[in-house]
Amino acid sequence: MRLIILGAPGVGKGTQAKKIASKFNIAHVSTGDILRTEISSGSMLGKKAEEFVHSGKLVPDEIILAMIKEEFRTDKFKNGFLMDGFPRTLEQAEKFSELLEELDLNLDKVINIVVDEKEIIKRISNRIICGECKKVFKLSDFKEDYDLACDICGSKLTRRKDDTEEVIKNRLEVYKAQTEPLVDFYKKKNLVENIDGLGTENEIFERISAHL
Ligand code: ADP
Repeated sequence: MRLIILGAPGVGKGTQAKKIASKFNIAHVSTGDILRTEISSGSMLGKKAEEFVHSGKLVPDEIILAMIKEEFRTDKFKNGFLMDGFPRTLEQAEKFSELLEELDLNLDKVINIVVDEKEIIKRISNRIICGECKKVFKLSDFKEDYDLACDICGSKLTRRKDDTEEVIKNRLEVYKAQTEPLVDFYKKKNLVENIDGLGTENEIFERISAHL
C-alpha cells in the first residue's frame, strides 16, 4: 500500500501515521522527524535546514527533494510507504509524481485529516515529545516538571522548538498557503479521503482504517 497523509500541523498526522505504518507493515517516512534528527546530529543537511525548521518556514524544495530521492534509494519501500509531511508544496507533489512514475509505482490513497484551527493551537501548545524515541505526550498529563520522562525509553521530554504560539501561527499560515492546495491536486486524481480529526486516537484510526 502506498499512502500520503495530509493535514495541518497538529491534526495528529504523526500519531496516526505510526499506527497505520505498523498495522500494514509499510515504511513511515516523516520528513519532520528526519530533519529534526539531522539537526540534532549537526549534519550538513541539518545545518542547512535548522533555521527554516525553527522559525516554522518550509525547508527549500530542492533540499527536501534530494532527501526524498536518497530515501527511495533504499529498499525499505518494497512493502509500500506512508509519506508524512511530504509533499508539502505543489512543486514537491509534482516532482514526487514524476519520481513514482519513474519507479513505476502508483499511489493508493491520500488521507486528509481535518481539524479546526482553534483546536490545533490548543493541541500544539499542550504537546511535548521524547527527545530519543519521538513519542508524543500531553503536557497536561504530568503533574510536576520532574515527571517529564518518556514511559518507553526513559529519556527526557522536551518541547519542539517550533511549538511556541508565534511559530505555530506561522506554520498554520504556511500550511494554508503552500500545502492546502495539495488537497485539490490529489482530488483531481481521485485519491483523497477526508477524515474528521476530532475524537480519540483510536476513533480516528478506525475512521482511517475503514478506507484502507
Ligand atoms: P508539523 O506538521 O507538525 O508542522 P513536521 O514535523 O511535519 O511538523 O515538520 C516540521 C518542520 O520541518 C516544518 O515546519 C518545516 O520547516 C520542515 N519540513 C518538514 N517537511 C517538509 C517538507 N516536505 N518541505 C519543507 N519543509 C519541511
